[in-house]
Amino acid sequence: MSARPAATAAATTATADPCCAAPLPVLGRDVTVPLVTGGEVTYAALDYAASAPALQRVWDDVAAYAPYYGSVHRGAGYLSQLSTDLFENSRAAVAAFLGCREDDQVVFTRSTTDSLNLLAAALPADCQVFVFETEHHASLLPWRDARVTYLDAPRTPDEAVRNLERALAARDPHGPALVCVTGASNVTGELWPVRELAAAAHAHGARIVLDAAQLAPHHPVDIAASDVDWVAFSGHKLYAPFGSGVLAGRADWLRAAEPYLAGGGASRAVARRADGGVDVEWHETAARHEAGSPNVIGAYAVASACKALTEAGFESLVARERHLIEKVRAGLAEVPEVRVLSLFGDDAPRVGVLSFVVDGWNSSHFAAALSAEYGIGVRDGLFCAHPLVRTLLGGAPDEPGECGAPEAAPGERSLNAIRVSFGAGT
Ligand code: PLP
Repeated sequence: MSARPAATAAATTATADPCCAAPLPVLGRDVTVPLVTGGEVTYAALDYAASAPALQRVWDDVAAYAPYYGSVHRGAGYLSQLSTDLFENSRAAVAAFLGCREDDQVVFTRSTTDSLNLLAAALPADCQVFVFETEHHASLLPWRDARVTYLDAPRTPDEAVRNLERALAARDPHGPALVCVTGASNVTGELWPVRELAAAAHAHGARIVLDAAQLAPHHPVDIAASDVDWVAFSGHKLYAPFGSGVLAGRADWLRAAEPYLAGGGASRAVARRADGGVDVEWHETAARHEAGSPNVIGAYAVASACKALTEAGFESLVARERHLIEKVRAGLAEVPEVRVLSLFGDDAPRVGVLSFVVDGWNSSHFAAALSAEYGIGVRDGLFCAHPLVRTLLGGAPDEPGECGAPEAAPGERSLNAIRVSFGAGT
């Protein structure tokens, strides 16, 4: 077969559709790229799940603030005061976006990976961690110092809840426990039953952290209503630039933990001791885990994106994405060689993320052809979720292998996949 049918199906997502609200203005909409066949074409960015283009509004807000930025929490000068206000107001804006409870803390980090590593470093002693093998590596791997139970891939949302309940029921009920779960899969786009998992966790005395890296850009996240204890997400997937992320939620474990980084900003008072050592009094606020000069522009950009999404209204963003994803699925369904990857089945609710394989094609070659021949940017590989993608491809989650581009002959099982993803700017 030729790449053409699938490529055409994917390309249709790049144009505005009259059915729904207009896409939000993003940077890079008019970027043209060269084609191997000669000439140029307007780039179709269909890799939002990796990094979404920044909203124009975010860029404008940052540009307006840039001439005024100064150090935060440190200076008496006007610009320092202004920056401190903007930084703390950004925290409040993120808290409002996430529906935080009154006493939740919002810690600015570098990314979801950073947020989850921070929480892993803040676990109480003897904490047991429960995580599905289907998670992104950012959720799967940070818990190395804890006792981790990896849960099998469920085939329905109900099975996910049952698997978790079974594992929690078997745990030592006395110690602390944490469940880590994703809100929307970065491979299938499928939504996970967050409320039900939170209820199961709490019923067994465990806490739960939501990896919202793929959920927050596409769907409302409400910490209080879904009753999760923490939420983590990344700025660069939420239409803001790289280098900023958030961990928001319960203050108690964060307050009791050693600072994630030791240094200025995290410490309230430092004194030499008579014995030659140093005594440190650490902050009990979010600043405890934000040592060093913070990424104030990044925090401001994340807050701007949160406000822009709230003002645009998730209802219309969700409706628009649902329409686009159905269109892509319908287009792919016309190509017999294509198989869309799914854990929970065709009817599962999902965000604008979808992975597939094309029989007879190496996924990396297919993705490269989409770029070179059509100017369509997608991702190929195992998407930093190796056990999940291997299971979805019909292999075993413990199969050894590299995140590369192994060849699959026609009729053979593919060893990696192609991912199409989009969002508010598509
Ligand atoms: N969690 C999920 C579900 C993701 O899709 C990603 C990134 O793709 C991450 C976590 C890690 O995000 P970051 O690379 O911004 O830390």
